[in-house]
Amino acid sequence: MSGHVSMQQAGAGVWDALVIGAGPAGGAAATRLAQGGARVLLVDRVALPRGKVCGCCLGPMGVGALRAFGAEGVLAGARDVRDVMLVCGGRGAGLAMPPMAVIGREALDARLVEFAQGAGASVLWSVSARVEADDTVTLTDADGSSVRARARVVLVCDGLAGASLRERPAMAARVSSDSRIGVGAAVEAGARELDLVGEGLMMLVARGGYLGVVALPDGRVDLAAALDAEVVRRAGGTAAAVQRVIEECCLVDGGAVRTRVKGSLVSDDSGGKNGEFLVLLARALLALVERGAERKVWRGTAALTRSRAVVQCGRLVVVGDSAGYVEPFTGEGMGWALAGGAAAGGLALRAIGSDDAGVERVLGAWPGELAALVGRRRGKCGVVASLARRPRVVSALVRVAAWSPGVSSSLITGLGLAARMREPHWSAA
Ligand SMILES: Cc1cc2nc3c(=O)[nH]c(=O)nc-3n(C[C@H](O)[C@H](O)[C@H](O)COP(=O)(O)OP(=O)(O)OC[C@H]3O[C@@H](n4cnc5c(N)ncnc54)[C@H](O)[C@@H]3O)c2cc1C
Repeated sequence: MSGHVSMQQAGAGVWDALVIGAGPAGGAAATRLAQGGARVLLVDRVALPRGKVCGCCLGPMGVGALRAFGAEGVLAGARDVRDVMLVCGGRGAGLAMPPMAVIGREALDARLVEFAQGAGASVLWSVSARVEADDTVTLTDADGSSVRARARVVLVCDGLAGASLRERPAMAARVSSDSRIGVGAAVEAGARELDLVGEGLMMLVARGGYLGVVALPDGRVDLAAALDAEVVRRAGGTAAAVQRVIEECCLVDGGAVRTRVKGSLVSDDSGGKNGEFLVLLARALLALVERGAERKVWRGTAALTRSRAVVQCGRLVVVGDSAGYVEPFTGEGMGWALAGGAAAGGLALRAIGSDDAGVERVLGAWPGELAALVGRRRGKCGVVASLARRPRVVSALVRVAAWSPGVSSSLITGLGLAARMREPHWSAA
C-alpha cells in the first residue's frame, strides 16, 4: 500500500515502521525505509505543503544526505548561495561560506514526501500522533476521531514543538533556561527589495537576537530570527522585535543614520558608503517585516535550545529537532535532520529484519549513532551561537573582516563558520 491512506487503513494491521512528522527528518526516514522495502506510514498533524520558520539554507551535510538516497532532485530550482554578509553595529562585511542550497520549506518538505511516496511510503495528513506507554500510537484527526496504530518501529520526528511523547515522561526534553525562540516569515518582495537583499545570505546580529535574510527562488524574501523571548515581549510582538534588530544592526532610527556612524564608514565595491547602503537595506527590510505582519505570515516556534537525554526506548527512536537542537546561527538543522532521518531509517530497516527481541537490541545503537553524526557539530554551533550573543565580538569581527580578510579567515575557519573572508561585495543603490 502506498499513497494516501485513511484513518481506518492506518489502524489496520501492523506497519513495519510508523514515522511521526513530515519535516526533513521524517521525510528522509520514510524514504530510506520505503527504499529498503519496509511498509511505512508517515503521518503529520498538518497537510503538506506548509511553511515553517526556517532560514531555508541547506548546507553540504543536508545536500549530501539527499544525494545519498537519490533525492537531490527535490532541490530543483534551488538557488546556490556562497556568501554571507554579517551586519552588526552599523557595519557590514561579506564572508564566503560553504555552498548552501536556498529553497522554501513548502517546496522542500512536500517534494521530499512525494519522493518517499514514490519509493512506496504511505501518508496520512492532519492527524495528531501520541505515543502510548505500550509504544502503540494514537492518531487523532481534526474531528476528534481516533485510531490506534501499531508498528514494529516508531520514529519520532515531530520537531521542536512536537508533543507526541507527552505520555512518556521518562523521555521528556529539557529546554535550556536561556533559550531563544524562533520567528519567521516568507514575504512577497518587489524588484527593488530583492536587489537590496542581493544574491547572498544576510545575518544581522543585535543584542536581543539575530535575523537571517535570503531571497527564495520563488521571489519571496525569507526572514528568520532567533530572539530573546523577553525582547519580543518588551517590543510588543514578533514583527516589532525584528524591526528593533534591523534598526540596531543598521544603526538607523526612523530611517535616518545616527550621527555616530558618520565618519567611520567602510567603502564598498561601488565606491558608495557602507552606511548609505545599510540605510537603504534597513528601509527595505523594515517594509518587508511590516508587510509580513499585515499579511499575517509571521510564525513563531517553541524555545529553540533543548536536549533529550533519552532518544531511544523500546521500539521508539527520536530523530531531528525532536532529539535536541541548538540555536540556528550556523543554519545546519535541516542537514542534521536529513542525515539523522536517513541514518535512523537505515537502523530501523535492520531492526525490522530481526525477530521481536532483536528489534530493541538493534535500535539500542541509536543514541551512539546520533551522537557520532551530529554531536560535535551541535557543540560547535552552540559555541558560535553563544558568540552571537555578544554583538561587540561580532562587530569587532566585521571590522577585522573589512580591514584584513586574511586574519579573520583563520578565526572564522576555526569556528567552522565559513571558508574564508571576503571584502564587502554588495552593490549600493
Ligand atoms: C529561525 C530559524 C532559522 C533556521 N534556519 C535554518 C537554515 O537556514 N538551515 C537549516 O538547515 N536549518 C535551519 N533551521 C532549523 C530547521 O528549520 C530545523 O532544524 C528542521 O526543520 C528540523 O527538521 P525536523 O524534521 O526535525 O522537524 P520539523 O521540520 O519541525 O518537522 C516536524 C513535523 O512534525 C509535525 N508534527 C509535530 N507534532 C506532531 C504530532 N504530534 N503528530 C503528527 N505530526 C506532528 C509538524 O507538523 C512538522 O511537520 C532554522 C530554525 C529556526 C527556528
